[in-house]
Amino acid sequence: MQIHLKTLGCRLNEAELETWAQAFQAKGHGITRNLSDAQLVIINSCAVTQDAVKKSKQMIRRIHRDNPQAKLVVSGCYATLNETEAAQMMGVDLIVGNQDKNQLVEKALAELNMDSMPAMSTEPGEVSLFSRGRQRAFVKVQDGCRYRCTFCIVTVARGEESSRRIEDVVAEINALHQQGINEAIITGVHLGGYGSDIGSDLVELVKAILEQTEIPRLRMGSLEPWELPEGFFELFKNPRLMPHLHLPLQSGSDSVLRRMARRCKTAEFTELVSKARAAIPHFNITTDIIVGFPGETEEEWQESVDYIKHVGFGHIHTFSYSPREGTKAAAMPNQIGQEIKRKRSRELHGLAETMKQAFIAENIGTEADILWEGQTETLENGLIRYFGYSQNYLRAACDVAPNTLLENRITPAKLCRAEARFIAAEL
Ligand code: SF4
Repeated sequence: MQIHLKTLGCRLNEAELETWAQAFQAKGHGITRNLSDAQLVIINSCAVTQDAVKKSKQMIRRIHRDNPQAKLVVSGCYATLNETEAAQMMGVDLIVGNQDKNQLVEKALAELNMDSMPAMSTEPGEVSLFSRGRQRAFVKVQDGCRYRCTFCIVTVARGEESSRRIEDVVAEINALHQQGINEAIITGVHLGGYGSDIGSDLVELVKAILEQTEIPRLRMGSLEPWELPEGFFELFKNPRLMPHLHLPLQSGSDSVLRRMARRCKTAEFTELVSKARAAIPHFNITTDIIVGFPGETEEEWQESVDYIKHVGFGHIHTFSYSPREGTKAAAMPNQIGQEIKRKRSRELHGLAETMKQAFIAENIGTEADILWEGQTETLENGLIRYFGYSQNYLRAACDVAPNTLLENRITPAKLCRAEARFIAAEL
């Protein structure tokens, strides 16, 4: 049987698609990129914002319209938070809530009587279609979150913390490496909470991956900036662990952070960043900032900007606050107007670009190992331009002779000069 998988939203949703693809293939079924060839379609929906809910519903309608014969299974946060509504949508055959995602493959085949469909023979190590290109793959290691940040619906949709067993994560990464993947990105809803339910922790997990796999590069997915286990920054002494952390700060004002019910205030955040920068030169810290959180005064905004300038980030994802039904913040007084949100968002984008260029400038002239991707451009002078990422997650490009094969290779390169969309590098 041919199965088509689609996702919206976060890296965790993407990693889940990867795991389901592998599981369906292990049961002898095929994965197809062509919706029209599929007998079964799986949608991993999102509900992080109202807009994401709208997009999830649009995708369900479009897929049923474009392939009405296929059986349609919907999972993910939209389907979990709006189970009845999603189940009544045209063409939906089965809803699998977030709490049952680990059994999605079995449930889909059993409850839709598809486990009698003829199995195709798949070659061992057949490349899963859902790795990012064929260089990097997201690997889910943890789900759920015990915290209740007041703007966050994910903690509501994904429930309590649950961790995958270390041996399962190691096995998946070894399987991906066998398929040619050179970088694994471990991800979770609250990655720092890994192991809280199985008597383990993130340090033990990372050590096991580095000891029991030969994957050349291991990267951390987004990590809440608190309660990192003892010995966390020691891990980065291993050159296979990438010196880049995405630590969502959300605001640089402690009074705003209090209203967000965030567990990390600016003083603790500063301490974390200095530990990272002390551990490895050119360590890249990136972050998320919400602008226009309810009640955010001009003073608080200025405080936030000053603190962000004080820390300095390699990249900032800027989010304009949007009230999310079912969260505490949506019911808070003093919601900020669109015009002010737009003004603050513009200001932060400008600041973020300045800081990004400053971090790039700091890396110019240094040597880096680049994992080259498949995407290339042919230049007027006949050379081929390859793109890739450094260990500390800087986007680089180099121009080489047409017969040079760099795709999915890791090579040292000199970072020479900053260009608009990348750093020009030389092998
Ligand atoms: S820690 Fe992260 S996932 Fe948990 S409630 Fe806060 S924002 Fe949501």
